[in-house]
Amino acid sequence: MTALILHGGAGARREVNYDAEAVHMRETVEAMKARLDAGASALDVAIETVVRLEDSGLYVAGRGASPNLAGAYELDASLMDGASRRAGAVAALQGFRNPILAARAVMETTPHVMLAGEGAALFAHDRGLEPIGDEAAWFTHAGQGDDNHPPGTLAHGTVGCCVLDAEGRLAAATSTAGVFGKAPGRVGDTPLIACGTWADDRAAVSCTGQGEYFIRTAAAAQVAWRVEAGQSLGEAGRAVIDQIGALGGDGGLIALDRTGAIADPFNSQGMKRAWLTTSGEVRVEVFGR
Ligand code: ASP
Repeated sequence: MTALILHGGAGARREVNYDAEAVHMRETVEAMKARLDAGASALDVAIETVVRLEDSGLYVAGRGASPNLAGAYELDASLMDGASRRAGAVAALQGFRNPILAARAVMETTPHVMLAGEGAALFAHDRGLEPIGDEAAWFTHAGQGDDNHPPGTLAHGTVGCCVLDAEGRLAAATSTAGVFGKAPGRVGDTPLIACGTWADDRAAVSCTGQGEYFIRTAAAAQVAWRVEAGQSLGEAGRAVIDQIGALGGDGGLIALDRTGAIADPFNSQGMKRAWLTTSGEVRVEVFGR
C-alpha cells in the first residue's frame, strides 16, 4: 500500500488560472506513483517530488522563487524521514537550484539538522550542488505577474510533499522562497522541523501559509502529536488550521498517516494540491475540497 500528497502552496487566489499547475501536479503524482510501485522509499519520492516542483518554475519555490525586499533570493527547505526521525534543512540559502537537495545533504553528511545563510551556501558548494549562475535568466517569478503583493501582507507560496511507501515508511519535504516582500534574513516555518515539516512513524506533514503563524503553533508536529493522542488525521489537521486562523493567520497543510489516510485542511481561498490514494486514484484540487 502506498500513498502520496503534494502541495504547490496555499496562496492560491480565485482570480488566477492554475491550469498549468494542475497539469504539472497530476503528471508529478503519476510519475511518483510509478516510482513507488517500483519500490522507491518514501524519503526518495518526497525529495524527487519537491525537486520537480522546484524545477518547474510554476510555484514560489526553487525556480519560481520571489526575491526579498533587498532583491535577494533567500530560499528555505527541509525534509524528515519518519522511520528514522532523521531530518535536514537549509535556511536563507542563496545561489543553488534545489534547496531540498542541500537539505538532504545536511541530513546525510553532517551531524546537524540545519545550516543557514552563507554557511549553507558554502556547504552546498562543497557538496557539488548545482549553482544557479545567472539569476535573471533562471528565476521565473511565479505568482508575481498578476498583482504586486505589498510588503507586510505575508502573501505566499511554497511546495511540499508527504509520502507513504510500500514498507510503511512516511516522509515529508517542503521548499519555499517564503512570503512575498520578506525582510532580508527572514526565515519562515518551511525549514523549521516541527513547524513547516514533520514525519514520524504515525504521520507526515508539510505546511504552507503565513509561516509566522505555523511557527507559533508548532503546526506540523502538533498534527502528528494529536494523532498520537488519538485524534483522526482529519480532526488533527483541522484543529491546527483552526488555531492558526484564531491567531489571525492563513494557510493550509497536507498530511498523511500510516494507514494512507490523507488530510488537506486550509483556511485560505485555495491550496494547490494533488494526491495518490491507497487504491491508486490520482486527484488534483485547487479551490475544491
Ligand atoms: N510558509 C511559507 C513561509 O512562510 C510560505 C508559504 O507556505 O507559502 O515562508
